[in-house]
Amino acid sequence: MCFPTVRLEDVRKSCGGGRAGYILANRLSETKDCTVLVVERDQPSLTWASQVPLLSAASQGDESRNLKFASAPQKHAENKEMEVIVGSAMGGSSRIDGMIYTRGISGQFNEWHAQGRKGWSYDDLHSCFLKSERALDEREWCNRSHSKVHFPSADSAIRAAKKLDFPLISELNSPNEPFIGMAKLHYNIDNNGHRYDVFAAFLPADLVESRKKNLHICTRASVNRINFSLADSQPMATGVRIEATSDRTYSLEVIADREVIICSGAIGTPQVLMLSGLGPKEQLSAMKIEVIKDFSGVGTIMQDHLAIPLSFHVPLNHSIIALKKQPLVALREFLKYLIAEKGMLLSPVHELSVRADHAEEESSPHGDFGLWVIVMRPKAPGTIRLKSTDLRDPPACNFNLLGEEAEQIELRLTLLGSVDLNTFIDAWGQSIYHYTASCRMALEDDTIPGVVDDELKVHGVNRLRIADASIFPSILATHLQVTAIAVAEKYADMIKADCQESTTIN
Ligand SMILES: Cc1cc2nc3c(=O)[nH]c(=O)nc-3n(C[C@H](O)[C@H](O)[C@H](O)COP(=O)(O)OP(=O)(O)OC[C@H]3O[C@@H](n4cnc5c(N)ncnc54)[C@H](O)[C@@H]3O)c2cc1C
Repeated sequence: MCFPTVRLEDVRKSCGGGRAGYILANRLSETKDCTVLVVERDQPSLTWASQVPLLSAASQGDESRNLKFASAPQKHAENKEMEVIVGSAMGGSSRIDGMIYTRGISGQFNEWHAQGRKGWSYDDLHSCFLKSERALDEREWCNRSHSKVHFPSADSAIRAAKKLDFPLISELNSPNEPFIGMAKLHYNIDNNGHRYDVFAAFLPADLVESRKKNLHICTRASVNRINFSLADSQPMATGVRIEATSDRTYSLEVIADREVIICSGAIGTPQVLMLSGLGPKEQLSAMKIEVIKDFSGVGTIMQDHLAIPLSFHVPLNHSIIALKKQPLVALREFLKYLIAEKGMLLSPVHELSVRADHAEEESSPHGDFGLWVIVMRPKAPGTIRLKSTDLRDPPACNFNLLGEEAEQIELRLTLLGSVDLNTFIDAWGQSIYHYTASCRMALEDDTIPGVVDDELKVHGVNRLRIADASIFPSILATHLQVTAIAVAEKYADMIKADCQESTTIN
């Protein structure tokens, strides 16, 4: 059975109601003459626990807002398969992430600019950062944070840093502070310390209601193909085919009068592009997909951060493990939260790098204080390739972990060579879910081929743009959400400028 074809006058369409998609939907629908349709493959999944920091993160919470699957075996890490996790709900990964909010250092954006990415220097992006941040105080950096750390171990770590004269950074996200040092993290939390995901922040119910004439949200619907007109010298995106996520026989063709914007994230976006015939010819031919454009850049690069967690014993009551091992503590904290909305349940997961040591026996009297050694700027790129033509079949993600010897050496030095690296990585190395660069912003014939130009337009295809974490020219040595949001803000600014220009001309 098929839904009828629909036409939304003057529609822009955003596929993927994730972090960037939601911000775009908010910004674009501010203008009444711009109709936006957001298509999200999963459901709202709003539960009591989904706003509680400790219970809502992918690592701690229920599975209803995640998609988890195994990566391709990692050749340079004993063929280990890594766990791939992506958000799959309204708000995307912002519903399940660690809520850590870091801009990263200005030099990395300036590096993008120096590589020719016009409009993407730190100064160019500064207004985009500010636009999505909420002021708590007078300082330049102004997102929210807890005023105190939750666990004494974090305080001890700060004291130890002071003792060693290791610099303490008071504002992690200020470009005026040194990058090296110890700092308290900032988070997406509201005034009461609850998770403040993009779903809650950018498309609250009253806003959606007030814009119902030009903002449409379609959930549990997957975009499985972009449609093209091939009448001109280059393909033009004309709309998308949507299928009910749980039943492929229910489908809908949507016609986009202005353009199609893909915001499916660094794994979902190359998958949709390849299923639509935009990808390396050999990959498409192998899947018997009609080639719309032989596009070597799509999914050919993929970057992520590899983390090696280290942990140290601390007293049990300094650790989240107390919740697990001491039922009375768990009950006390639960009641504290219910009655006063206070206590451990408000602790964001990554302040709880005081984490369980799986190697310990259940009866261990210790808590753990964890440190992660992270490869921030991996040099060996991975790939994303289709495994089948079914959108619901996750693609093959090959991280190419430690594919360059230089990275192995760096890690060995950091771990002080005290253990056998391969064995250690095999047991402990993990992705920290910062997938990016799979449809990078660069020239199409760059040595590492690009997919979109500086205005996020897909090379050689009309009316198709990408706005999500897949377009970063290269991975940043920080968490990625701030920049994914800035990409959406920047895109919205570009569209508004285009609209203003055409109004002035008319
Ligand atoms: C477990 C985890 C923890 C993280 N922790 C942090 C952190 O603490 N701080 C930080 O800065 N970053 C963190 N990140 C990374 C950050 O969440 C992402 O970089 C960011 O969300 C990327 O935004 P996006 O818009 O590109 O994609 P996403 O937010 O992943 O959104 C993509 C959306 O597209 C939808 N979709 C995909 N394919 C289709 C399709 N074919 N049709 C319709 N819909 C589709 C998905 O369901 C999803 O909602 C974390 C990520 C994960 C997974």
